[in-house]
Amino acid sequence: MEQMQELADALCCASGDIEVRENEMMSRHTTFAIGGPADLFVLPKTADALKCALEILRERHTPFLVMGNGSNMLVSDAGIRGAVVCTTAMNRIVVGEDGSLTAEAGALLSAVAHSAQRAGLTGAEFAGGIPGSLGGAVFMNAGAYDGQMAQIVARTEYLNAAGEIQTVEGAAHAFDYRKSVFRSHADWTVVRSTLRLAGGDPAAIQEKMNDLAQRRRDKQPLNFASAGSTFKRPSGYFAGRLIEDAGLKGVSVGAAQVSEKHAGFLINRGGATCSDMLRLIGLVQERVREQFGVTLECEVRIIG
Ligand SMILES: Cc1cc2nc3c(=O)[nH]c(=O)nc-3n(C[C@H](O)[C@H](O)[C@H](O)COP(=O)(O)OP(=O)(O)OC[C@H]3O[C@@H](n4cnc5c(N)ncnc54)[C@H](O)[C@@H]3O)c2cc1C
Repeated sequence: MEQMQELADALCCASGDIEVRENEMMSRHTTFAIGGPADLFVLPKTADALKCALEILRERHTPFLVMGNGSNMLVSDAGIRGAVVCTTAMNRIVVGEDGSLTAEAGALLSAVAHSAQRAGLTGAEFAGGIPGSLGGAVFMNAGAYDGQMAQIVARTEYLNAAGEIQTVEGAAHAFDYRKSVFRSHADWTVVRSTLRLAGGDPAAIQEKMNDLAQRRRDKQPLNFASAGSTFKRPSGYFAGRLIEDAGLKGVSVGAAQVSEKHAGFLINRGGATCSDMLRLIGLVQERVREQFGVTLECEVRIIG
C-alpha cells in the first residue's frame, strides 16, 4: 500500500493534469454498478497527461487497465490490482472548418453525436444513445441501428507500448463485428479519432437522434444498471430471442436478473455482485446451449 501511495505521489508530481485516487470502488465507474476497489484510479485530463501517466506506470512495472465510461465492463468483486487509467476527463471535441470532427478518447459518444448535429454533420446519429466513450467505442467497434464506428472513423492516434504516438487510418483499423485492431493489441491506447461525416440538415439529424432514442427507451431496460447487450449476436440468431425462448426472462441470481423487458440485457436490480452476475451469465449460456445448441459469447469484458 505504501508503494501505491508513493506511485500516486509520483503521478501527481509529474503533471498537474493527473488526478489520482486510491482504493476507488469500480462500482462507481461501471454502468453495471459492480466492481471492487482499484488500487489506483488515475484520471488524466489531457493527452500529454495520459502519455505521462502510462510512462510512469510502465517504468514502475505497475499493471494497468485503460477504460472509458465503463459501459461494457464487468469488474470482479475483488477489484483490480495495480492502476485503472480512466480517460473520461480528456474529452475535447473539435469540429474543423473542413467538416471533420476530432474527439479525444474520453469524449462521450452522446457529446460527439450532439456536436456533429450542431455542426450540421450527419453519420454519427446511431452513436447518440450508446453510453460509451469514443475510445471504448473505437476499441469495440460499437454500433446500433445499422450504424457502426467502422463507417465513420477515418483516423486514430494511439500510444503504443513504447509510449510513442502512432496513427492508423481507414482499413488499418481492422474493424469487424465488435472488434478493431485495438482489441488485438492490448498495449495500445486510443488517444483521439477523427470522424468522416457528411453535411446534413441539423433539424433532420436531431429528428433521427430523437427517433433512435425513443426506440431505445421503448425496448431497453434503461432504468436499471446494465452493460447493454451482455452477449454478442450469434451468427444467424439474436441472443435476446434465444434467451427469451429458453424461458429465462426474469430469472435471477441474487440481484442479477435477465431483464423482463429485453432478455438480451442482464441487469443489476440493486446490490448485485460480480459473482451473482457471472453465475447468471453461466446459467444463461448453459440453458441456451442445451436447448438450441448455440454458444453465447460475452460481449461484456470481464475484468479481474
Ligand atoms: C444501456 C446500454 C446500452 C448500450 N448499447 C450499445 C449499443 O447499442 N451498441 C454497442 O455497440 N454497445 C452498446 N453498449 C455497450 C457500450 O456502451 C459500448 O461497448 C461502448 O463502446 C463501450 O465504451 P466505454 O467507454 O464505456 O468502454 P469501457 O467499458 O470503459 O471499456 C471497454 C473496453 O474498451 C477498452 N478501452 C476503453 N477505452 C480505451 C482506450 N482509450 N484505448 C484502448 N482501449 C480502451 C477497455 O480496456 C475495455 O476493454 C451499451 C451499454 C449500455 C449500458
